[in-house]
Parts: sequence; structure tokens; C-alpha cells
Amino acid sequence: MKIANSLMSGLGTTVFEVMSALARQHQSVNLGQGFPDDKGPEAVRRAAADYLMDGHNQYPPMMGLPELRQAVAAHAKRFQGLEVDWQSEVLVTSGATEALGDCLFGLIEPGDEVVLIEPLYDSYLPIVRRAGGIPKLVRLEPPTWSLPREALAAAFSDRTKLILFNTPMNPCSKVFDREELEFIAALCRKHDAYAVCDEVYEHIIFDDRRHLSIMALPGMRERTARIGSAGKSFSVTGWKVGYVTAPVEMMKAIAKTHQFMTFTTPPNLQWGAAAGLRLDDGYYSGLAGDMQRKRDRLAGALAAIGFDVLPAHGTYFVTTDFRPLGFNGTDEDFCRYITVEAGVTAVPVSAFYDQPEAAPRHFARFCFCKHDETLDTAIARLSAHFKA
Ligand code: PMP
Ligand code: GLN
Repeated sequence: MKIANSLMSGLGTTVFEVMSALARQHQSVNLGQGFPDDKGPEAVRRAAADYLMDGHNQYPPMMGLPELRQAVAAHAKRFQGLEVDWQSEVLVTSGATEALGDCLFGLIEPGDEVVLIEPLYDSYLPIVRRAGGIPKLVRLEPPTWSLPREALAAAFSDRTKLILFNTPMNPCSKVFDREELEFIAALCRKHDAYAVCDEVYEHIIFDDRRHLSIMALPGMRERTARIGSAGKSFSVTGWKVGYVTAPVEMMKAIAKTHQFMTFTTPPNLQWGAAAGLRLDDGYYSGLAGDMQRKRDRLAGALAAIGFDVLPAHGTYFVTTDFRPLGFNGTDEDFCRYITVEAGVTAVPVSAFYDQPEAAPRHFARFCFCKHDETLDTAIARLSAHFKA
């Protein structure tokens, strides 16, 4: 038999699946893969349920239900001051994951250079490479994860097609500030590059920070695709409803990819997501406030147990250095060890690097988007284990 695509067949199973399977096997508290254990807002689930029973359960329009595209455009205006034409500039996808794939396959020409920032979400590199892109990686360094401006400028050239980055940023919980975004924007303008910005955690942001989309900066409206996820904004990660906002010319190529990847996304879930995007500001500030309290609950307890806990400005996650606990193995060893021995699961941060062997190997990422009881059980188990 001829071999399958070598790049794809050479990939391992994603760390989230591996660690969740291990968590199930050992009945540990799963603070690895990022998903809330809350049900999400009743109004959002009710809208989807009603549509499922009474609505039109056939192919919706390829670009997405008009009601959802209108809601995405209104939400962009409300939170970012962006004027978006819902008919030509918004696309609904099956999760942010598909949105990322649509943007990368739609924009990259084989041989194009693509700037990426490590640590990075695990779907980025395989898709960039499969699209024929040549990754140019720039690394953020803990504990501040601040933007290394010289290295970033050096990674750009006139061969750069686009930069792909994520803010608020998984796994290191960094939020890019205005100056950093302006620096990136200036490089995009200088080298005539696109920005693809993964903003799935736009509403999970703490300590009075406000999410700023690079699309809202001068000269970026016409060269940015920004990606959101109903899964994250409404605590329904299994829904896989995402949305891309991009200027018409970019959108044409992105939508052409979507039409042959999934073509459409379940209409009842789109209807539910539209109800979510129309929720009032109080919902969004409540979500951020709840997550911030959960961050404080888990981060404080992990610090008391002896972890060195890094700051977390957004996302579902907190990064911890486990060396102060006296553990000498790698981050993978540590995450397996606490799953089996303490009954709590985390994910190794080295999985978010192109070459895990050459990445920092002493960080574990814990997810805090859980009910207080779930967090408290995890905390009690870790305390009992490490104090013993
Ligand atoms: N980007 C980042 C940074 C993520 O953490 C996730 C997590 N799920 C995704 C994209 C994918 O989102 P979705 O579930 O909507 O596909
Ligand atoms: N985004 C989630 C995380 O980082 C998981 C997504 C997935 O399982 N693919 O944990």
C-alpha cells in the first residue's frame, strides 16, 4: 500500500485527548483539557433546543444563519467598535478549529512564510505545514511571556503571508496589550502581511483588562481575520460553533475553503449561539468575573501547596512550575504522575511547542473553569498527596 500523507500520519494524538483518556482511566479530576463543567446559559441552550424541535433542520445557508451572522456583526460593533457587513464579512464555522483551518488553507500559498508565536495551540502548526506554509516561530519566555520585539521583527520578511496568534493566549494566559498589538500591526503593514487572530477567549479576561482585537487598530481592518467561538463564550465547548470576521477579499478565499470542508454547521446550535451573542453586557462581565474567582481559588490553592504559579490574565488556564515540589521528571511525567498518584489531571505545557524536547519541561497547565466543588476536590487531592 502507498503511504498516507506523511505529515498527517506522522502526528501523535492531541494531548487533550490523551490526557482526558488517562483521566477517565484513573477517574481523576480532569483539569487538563479545557472545558467547563457548567451547563452554560439557559437562554442559549433553550434557544437551540426549541430550534431543534420546531425549526428548519436542513442545510442552513453556507455562510451561516443570517440571525447568527447579524449577531456576530452586532457583537463586533458592541465590543470592538468594528463596522462589519454581516452578509459579506462573517462566516459561521464548525468551531474555531474549522475557522483556523479555513483561514490557513484559504490564505496560504505553498512556500509562504507564516509567523507564529510559541507556546501555541496544537492545531496551528500541522495545518500551516499541510497548507504548504513555512513556519517562522517566535518564542515567548516565562514568567512574563512578553513579546520579544526584535525576534518578532526578524521573523517577518516580504515573504511573510500572515501572522497567526492568540489573545487571550492558551496555554500561558497572556493578554496582548495595546503596544504589543500595535507593534505586530506595524509589521503586518510594513510587510503587507495578513493577521489571523484567534480570539476564542475574548470574554475570558481578568483584572479589569479589556480585550482588544488587532482588527480594530489603524490599517488592520482590511488585513485581519478574527476568530471567535460560541463554545468558549457560552460554556458549551461540545457545540463547535465558531465564527470568522474578515474583509470581503480575504473572506472569499476563507469561505471557499469552508464550502468544501464542512459547508454548514448545525442550524439549531447556530440559533443558540445567536441568542448568546445577543445577551446583555451583564452576562459577559459575569462570565469574566466568575472565571476570575475560579482562577483565584485554584491559583491560590496551588501556590499554598507549593507550586510556583504564574500570572493568568485570561483564558481557562493557569500555568504552574512544579519544580518547587521536588519533582525531577518532565512535564509529561508530572502530568501522568499526578493523574495516577494524586487523582488530578493537568496538561504538559511542552505540548504547545513545535519541539517539546527543546521546550521548557517544568510547567503544567491546570484548567479552572469548573464548579467550586470540582476545584476543591482537586485541591484536596493534591494537598493530601504533596503534604504526605
Ligand atoms: N483556539 C484556542 C486557543 C483554543 O484553546 C481552542 C480550544 N478549544 C480552539 C481554538 C478551538 O475552539 P473550538 O472548540 O471552537 O473549535
Ligand atoms: N482548547 C482546549 C484546551 O486547550 C481543548 C480543545 C481540544 O480538546 N481540542 O484544553
